[in-house]
Amino acid sequence: MSPQSALPASDSYRHRGQRRALVAELRRKGIHDERVLQALEQVPRHVFFEPAFREHAYQDKAFPIGEGQTISQPYTVAFQTQLLQVQPQERVLEIGTGSGYQCCVLLELTPHVWSIEYNAVLFARTRRLLAQLHHPAHLFCGDGSLGLPDQAPFDKIIVTAGSPTLPRPLLRQLRVGGSLVIPVGTEHSQRMVRVVRESEESFVREDFEEFRFVPLLGQAGWGA
Ligand code: SAM
Repeated sequence: MSPQSALPASDSYRHRGQRRALVAELRRKGIHDERVLQALEQVPRHVFFEPAFREHAYQDKAFPIGEGQTISQPYTVAFQTQLLQVQPQERVLEIGTGSGYQCCVLLELTPHVWSIEYNAVLFARTRRLLAQLHHPAHLFCGDGSLGLPDQAPFDKIIVTAGSPTLPRPLLRQLRVGGSLVIPVGTEHSQRMVRVVRESEESFVREDFEEFRFVPLLGQAGWGA
């Protein structure tokens, strides 16, 4: 069975119980935004998994999704989403679609989500899956470190790969009052950073805890 054939219909009572337990674990680990917890309780994470790993989908761990990439740990997804403070009707850009899981968590909070994936194989697979799930995200294949200038400005931008710096194209595509959540550091360890655009020219940066992400490739990341 491919991930594409695992449709929401395969979401069972057992899966829903596992999600409730996962959400309780995230709450114990410090996630407190009820809308974020509710979103993670709604999205069937197992649907985004390779068959070989599907039974582990409700562990609080990252897992391989092919092409050398990973689906992020639920705590990481919850932490980034909580920092983002998405309001209904806001326009959100995600860099690093990967499996599509984080994208679907964002769609629980606003219907206006754009997401870019660099890897063409993952992009094609995830686009097919999200179409089968009838999820209305706007998906693009390309270098997300440059953002999506044609669709800007965005209220919120989330980067789900580790960057060496704050990519200037992404800062420029934030509307005033909007924020960027991005892991910044070396290829081995990054600090979660939130940057709020206070005016056309001024940005305020806050640093949070350390994480470990796969590298953000592309022109404003670690390169091709
Ligand atoms: N958000 C994903 C999910 O929910 O499954 C997890 C993302 S995985 C940790 C990071 C993703 O970023 C990978 O799929 C990788 O191919 C992608 N990526 C890396 N550099 C990128 C870039 N410049 N533009 C777009 N995607 C990129």
